[in-house]
Amino acid sequence: MSMKWVYTFAEGDGTNKKLLGGKGANLCEMTQIGISVPPGFVITTEACRAFLDDPERRLPEGMLEQVHHALADLEAETGRQFGRGETPLLISVRSGSALSMPGMMDTILNLGLNPKTLQGLIAETRNARFGYDAYRRFIQLFGKIALGVPEEDFDTEFEAVKRKAGAERDEDLSCNDLIEITERFMSAVEKSTGRPFPSDPYEQLEIAIRAVFGSWMGKRAMDYRREFKITPDMADGTAVNVMAMVFGNMGEDSATGVAFTRDPGTGENALFGEYLVNAQGEDVVAGVRTPKPVAALADEMPEIYDQLVDLRHRLENHYREVQDFEFTIQKGVLYCLQTRNGKMNAAALVRTSVDMAQSGLIEREYAILRVQPDMLEQLLFPQLDTTAEAEPLAQGLPASPGAAVGVAVFDADRAEKLGRTGERVILVREETKPEDIHGFFASRGILTSRGGKTSHAAVVARGMGKPCVAGAEGISVDVHLKRAIVGDHEFHEGDLITIDGTSGNVFLGEVPMIEQEFSPELTVLLSWADETARLQVMANADTPEDARTALKFGAMGIGLCRTERMFNDTDRLPIVVDMIVADTREERQAALNRLLPIQREDFKGIFTVMAPRQVTIRLLDPPIHEFLPAEQQLIDELDELRHLRTVLRGIRVLSDAVEFMYRSRDVHPTVQMPAEPVLVEEAIQKKEAMLTKVRALHEVNPMLGHRGVRLGLTFPEIYAMQIRAILEAAAECQKSGIAVHPEIMVPQVCTAQELKQVKDCVEEIRADVERAHHVKLDVKFGSMLEVVRACLRAENLAEEAEFFSFGTNDLTQATFSFSREDAENKFLPMYNRRHILQDNPFEVLDVKGVGRLMELAVMWGRDARPGMKVGICGEHGGHPDSIGFCHRIGLSYVSCSGYRVPIARLAAAHAAILDRTAGLQYPSHRGYQCIGAL
Ligand code: ADP
Ligand code: MG
Ligand code: MG
Repeated sequence: MSMKWVYTFAEGDGTNKKLLGGKGANLCEMTQIGISVPPGFVITTEACRAFLDDPERRLPEGMLEQVHHALADLEAETGRQFGRGETPLLISVRSGSALSMPGMMDTILNLGLNPKTLQGLIAETRNARFGYDAYRRFIQLFGKIALGVPEEDFDTEFEAVKRKAGAERDEDLSCNDLIEITERFMSAVEKSTGRPFPSDPYEQLEIAIRAVFGSWMGKRAMDYRREFKITPDMADGTAVNVMAMVFGNMGEDSATGVAFTRDPGTGENALFGEYLVNAQGEDVVAGVRTPKPVAALADEMPEIYDQLVDLRHRLENHYREVQDFEFTIQKGVLYCLQTRNGKMNAAALVRTSVDMAQSGLIEREYAILRVQPDMLEQLLFPQLDTTAEAEPLAQGLPASPGAAVGVAVFDADRAEKLGRTGERVILVREETKPEDIHGFFASRGILTSRGGKTSHAAVVARGMGKPCVAGAEGISVDVHLKRAIVGDHEFHEGDLITIDGTSGNVFLGEVPMIEQEFSPELTVLLSWADETARLQVMANADTPEDARTALKFGAMGIGLCRTERMFNDTDRLPIVVDMIVADTREERQAALNRLLPIQREDFKGIFTVMAPRQVTIRLLDPPIHEFLPAEQQLIDELDELRHLRTVLRGIRVLSDAVEFMYRSRDVHPTVQMPAEPVLVEEAIQKKEAMLTKVRALHEVNPMLGHRGVRLGLTFPEIYAMQIRAILEAAAECQKSGIAVHPEIMVPQVCTAQELKQVKDCVEEIRADVERAHHVKLDVKFGSMLEVVRACLRAENLAEEAEFFSFGTNDLTQATFSFSREDAENKFLPMYNRRHILQDNPFEVLDVKGVGRLMELAVMWGRDARPGMKVGICGEHGGHPDSIGFCHRIGLSYVSCSGYRVPIARLAAAHAAILDRTAGLQYPSHRGYQCIGAL
């Protein structure tokens, strides 16, 4: 017995997307829950795999017989005959893999037509125009997809007839025009393939099946899978769906459309979609005619509209997920042709998550899991500044929200090329096609002059979270001349334009943008996330300003406050420089005394903003020469100054002579010679001293040199000043009723002794400050773990440190013995290409190496100090995958840059849920991951 390769819609298992593909599984599912779906069957992805694995590309044994069986059943069910004249059965042949890849593989409609069946169809419908329209569509799709005839060959013929007939729109073509088109198409196929168009429907079907299978390995499909990291364990091969045709182009009581159960742009809980009367499905998606919003159907076909609303509820209640579905109305009867989980932008995902959870359709945890953390980045995207009052140049449909500025580019290849150079690009097309996909990746936004909100451009842009304005009909795009004309205006390739996918407006030039605020739904979702997560989320913030941003984004404290950024302010740097070039301890102390009140104010500012949350401050970390000018710069400046000195000396000689002349005549010069030479001399001396210092401080390998705690122990007065500033700030805040919880963190530690010595200093100053201010301070003392030895000695360090914070940037460098810049510039890309390393370990935490070290350090640290607080403050702290890992090894918190805080909060919740449920409760989670990836 051969394998089962074919399942009818009535028998296929709707949950087995791997076997039946997403489209096929859902067609089975819908059929089985009683939704009106035209009958049909699915040929499995296993058949596809078997076919592709066979070097001779033979169809698997027994498959064709099973197909013929299923066809016979289909004939019986529809009462029509495949390839017979009177009541011909026409079918569509559609691809569909486990993960939806919109427009990635093509569909053939009206298969089964030939001169004989065509006459049957015409006799039956008494509509010759309809018959020939179906026929020409079939020849074109079959020719293009199954026989590989270039699309242009058909376009040329089609346009020629249209022109000859003086027809403006496709609908204006007469029956005779369509007959001529079918004839021309036939000869185009014969010319291109060297063989007549196949007329045996069974042969047509076999060729079509092979073509669909083969399309899995087509360039477009492979590019797409690579871009979205779709691996064979996620989707391996495509199924083939064969279903009886229904016709939306049988007259004014027929229509076709695409709809979402909720608005995929805003998430609003209302039916959303578009339809075209008297048209076939692909017309809507291709943007050939601009369709009407589905609400208009309420007037045009009220009964059908009610059915559609009913369908919407049935789909959502069954799938418990927003559905994106296709429908066709044939002579007043509604059919659903496809459904899948709707791809939405982040705003819509967040809103529908909250709405659906609040209405009880889904659980909260599921609502949280629906939104991929990285997607939130979209919500932090800028919007147009409405106060800027720019005049729109044109208006189209708001097809994917958000605003974007970039130079207009009229083809995808060019967009890709320019995008790679870092140029901001807006892809401008008449309409887009699947082969433009690489242009989408490279662009900031998409603008089309044709097509609706469900056109290819709109769907893909929404999936990618890129702004899109579609169907801006006022713009006439000329791709060949690389320009667009709008009334009296025009713009060319390279001109800056701004598009606003939220309003549909298009502007010439760059319109200013503003940052977005959190929506109420996002606030709710993130509050659920915080309740669910175990990890806390802190922010890295160095100034009160940063702290405010972090707080706005929901930071629960500051996990890393770097004191050096405060040193770099223009009014402080000179003092810092004085401190560094000081030759004696007294001179250095004098400079530090001036810095102390400034740092104290810095800390007071941050404590006040963050009260009563934790603020973890890291003592000075970088090598101090970083605060001095570079050696070469000093040399250059000195050269200039010395040159100036020579010039001034020349002038002095000259002016002395002049003065002598005046004196000898007893007149007094009105012009006093300036005193610059003295100033110049002073400057030279100062620079020379600095140059000497810079040379003295020179290190062969500064990142491994005199920095962090090593510096702090060499110049104890620097750390003492910082510690005092922190503690005095805390004392002053506390006295004015502000709750402060400072944590002092020592960088670059490798031994417990280092920690102990700094700790003694903290204790001494603390006693002093507490005495002077009559307060008791709550200060914690902790250590960075960013040196391999520190991790290995975690148990000992934990005797001194009350908390640890992993600095994974340095720890990664130290674990690999890579210096980041050199690695990223010289060999990491090659390492990735050759699969020596999977990712860039500076971006994605190296769980196997660095992570292993972290895990051990957490364990050993807590051996000495049970329940010890341990966090991470490297860049990895904001990366969702790394956050998942931090959760698993039991960290207490992650700290990341302020604007990534919402992402981290959500990621922390995901980690907790997936940990608890081992990811098993949500079998369709993969599907959502794909939504996220898009
Ligand atoms: P895609 O994955 O690109 O959307 P589909 O397989 O869904 O491709 O088909 C393309 C278009 O053809 C859709 O609009 C679909 O509704 C329409 N279509 C597919 N099968 C049929 C059918 N049996 N009857 C009528 N229209 C169909
Ligand atoms: Mg479809
Ligand atoms: Mg560090």
